[in-house]
Amino acid sequence: MSIFFEEKVLTVHHWTDTLFSFTTTRDPTCRFKNGQFVMIGIEVDGRPLLRAYSIVSPNYADTLEFLSIKVQNGPLTSRLQHLKVGDTLLVGKKPVGTLVLDNLKDGENLYLFSTGTGLAPFMSTIRDPETYERYQKVILVHGVRYVGELAYEDLILNELPNDELIGEMIAPALTYYPTVTREPYRNQGRIPDLIASGKLFADLGLPPLDSTRDRVMLCGNPALLVDVPAQLKALGYQEGNTGEPGDYVIEKAFVEK
Ligand SMILES: Cc1cc2nc3c(=O)[nH]c(=O)nc-3n(C[C@H](O)[C@H](O)[C@H](O)COP(=O)(O)OP(=O)(O)OC[C@H]3O[C@@H](n4cnc5c(N)ncnc54)[C@H](O)[C@@H]3O)c2cc1C
Repeated sequence: MSIFFEEKVLTVHHWTDTLFSFTTTRDPTCRFKNGQFVMIGIEVDGRPLLRAYSIVSPNYADTLEFLSIKVQNGPLTSRLQHLKVGDTLLVGKKPVGTLVLDNLKDGENLYLFSTGTGLAPFMSTIRDPETYERYQKVILVHGVRYVGELAYEDLILNELPNDELIGEMIAPALTYYPTVTREPYRNQGRIPDLIASGKLFADLGLPPLDSTRDRVMLCGNPALLVDVPAQLKALGYQEGNTGEPGDYVIEKAFVEK
């Protein structure tokens, strides 16, 4: 029996010349927790070429969605960026990952800090009803270099609060805070700097991070995953893991080679 599902590409959307997303069919036996990642890829010269990808779509959706970088010389994404409707995508049968609600203690506010494609796992977290059963406020922070990289902005701001099924849970609880580093925008700067200066909290009208009240999930570039955990540890935050829920959890958005 194959270790992959063979799914068909249904839609492809190019956000910028370095970022795209696509949806595929979903095998009815494909199960995952919101926030998890899975190995996906294509066949090249008769062999599977795979990389880890967070699942954007929530686990109750009929289709799968992924958000992808385009790396010019990247073995997978130099090819994957040419994906067309009807193409076959290999999807691993064993989703895994630490960015799941089970790994976090209860609290009042849930902060989801992401950069670039690190937004992907949180797109499923913010569509999970359990997120709103466990936390009163959910703050999604997305840091990018250029405004065009703010993928899913319209979905987050306009579609989700009006969603028939979960809009009533999302509308009063979800706050979206996009921030841009390399061109003018209403919010600017790196996430660690916005935390350190207190600007993020002043803008949100919320008190600074407190380990007794605020939980954190992190997914992004290597610098974010060094700087923010150091800030959290200084505030007494304990990292959570499978089997031991904590105050924060982290996952790499990619590995620097
Ligand atoms: C747990 C986990 C989850 C991941 N989820 C996603 C996801 O949802 N979407 C996604 O596009 N990638 C994701 N990645 C990265 C992905 O696995 C691949 O690295 C990426 O698709 C590029 O593949 P490649 O073969 O073209 O190049 P690779 O040889 O894999 O990477 C080449 C170089 O490109 C850079 N790079 C790779 N991925 C990214 C990225 N996402 N953002 C910025 N720079 C990058 C790095 O410098 C890397 O060294 C994830 C990685 C991990 C470990």
